[in-house]
Amino acid sequence: MERGDMHDVVVVGAGPAGLATAIGLAARGVPTALVTGPERGPDHRTTALLEGSVRILEDFGVWADIAGKAAPLRDMRIADATRRLVRAPEVTFRSAEIGLETFGYNIENDALRGALLHAALACPGLHIARTALAGLEAQADAITLRLSDGGTLHARLVAGADGRNSTVRTAAGIRMRTRAYPQVAFTATVRHSRPHEDTSTEFHTETGPFTLVPLPGQRSSIVCVVSEREAVRLLGLDDRALAAELEARAASVLGRFEMEPGRGAFPLAAETAQEIVAPRIALIGEAAHIMPPIGAQGLNLGLRDAAGLVDLAATAFTAGGDPGAPEVLSRYAAARRRDISGRMTAVDLLNRSLLSDLVPIQSARGFGLYLLDRVGPLRRTLMRLGIGERAA
Ligand SMILES: Cc1cc2nc3c(=O)[nH]c(=O)nc-3n(C[C@H](O)[C@H](O)[C@H](O)COP(=O)(O)OP(=O)(O)OC[C@H]3O[C@@H](n4cnc5c(N)ncnc54)[C@H](O)[C@@H]3O)c2cc1C
Repeated sequence: MERGDMHDVVVVGAGPAGLATAIGLAARGVPTALVTGPERGPDHRTTALLEGSVRILEDFGVWADIAGKAAPLRDMRIADATRRLVRAPEVTFRSAEIGLETFGYNIENDALRGALLHAALACPGLHIARTALAGLEAQADAITLRLSDGGTLHARLVAGADGRNSTVRTAAGIRMRTRAYPQVAFTATVRHSRPHEDTSTEFHTETGPFTLVPLPGQRSSIVCVVSEREAVRLLGLDDRALAAELEARAASVLGRFEMEPGRGAFPLAAETAQEIVAPRIALIGEAAHIMPPIGAQGLNLGLRDAAGLVDLAATAFTAGGDPGAPEVLSRYAAARRRDISGRMTAVDLLNRSLLSDLVPIQSARGFGLYLLDRVGPLRRTLMRLGIGERAA
């Protein structure tokens, strides 16, 4: 084995979760390599990074490069736009109520990834391999990664951050538990004639949430959860007709809409890896869990995976230990289990409560929102949980 090919950790995948993990490890002095994977095309979506993620990116020393490109999220409004018998009251959550300036920030995915890639390239001690992982074999004290350019790398720990079709996960023989939903998230970006005042608005509809999330300037990103047939129809509209339709769905709360380039459609699914570790392997981000884009939880959960693994691996390395040792991996799995399953369950319940026509379920959702509107401590607890804090 060539000495130069041996790293304590190899991170596979240069999406936001993998980039953050590689930067965090390098910042803690752990000899790390990043296998970037294939070139990616443009991604017109945006990501709401909640308070917990901002703190993680600050700890990794990269938040300052991201902050200027993101829009603050100070308030979040939820409105019931269903035409059902039982309708919920409008609720507004204000970050100031829990002593925060913002709940987080919304940023275009390409800007986030660009800033993280820039930071990774500037990291001393982070080796970047611009190729893809083809396969891997774990031995007792190391793991060998075969790369698509014919090269090999060796590591004590592999962090699999290679997304929903993860090669690392497949090579480790880890299966996904999958739940499909009859819905698609249609995405677009609009300019509007009224300011958003740093407030995101979520309309609950019979097919799922319709959400407007602030971007810098008088712009917002839209995630509109609809049936597959409706998503196909929206994709086929010209800009003017689409702007008029989306503005009507938004009840003109932000005035006149104009479309910006880029629309997308993402089938909703919830998938969780049966295990998030295997010998010398830890999964991170969408390689470990895919959730519907409801409540801005997906990447926020992925960044908490990154922070958890960075901390455990760097602590083991600094103490002269092995970052891929079985006890490090079992601590990682135990530390992430509750957070991952809790978020998956909460998002699933919220989505199903919107889809259900059953009056008792509609009543429960309406009563829940009524309580959140009226009961301060409950509301503050939910806000803290929503941004990634643990329940006391
Ligand atoms: C419509 C929509 C809106 C969303 N909004 C939010 C939001 O507001 N907030 C939030 O927290 N989350 C949100 N999410 C979820 C979020 O987008 C994902 O959680 C996040 O992008 C996943 O990042 P990742 O780094 O885990 O995976 P990815 O971004 O998929 O990155 C995986 C990387 O691995 C690379 N790769 C693949 N195969 C290989 C290989 N063999 N070798 C090496 N590399 C490989 C790929 O090229 C890619 O770069 C949203 C999702 C959708 C669909």
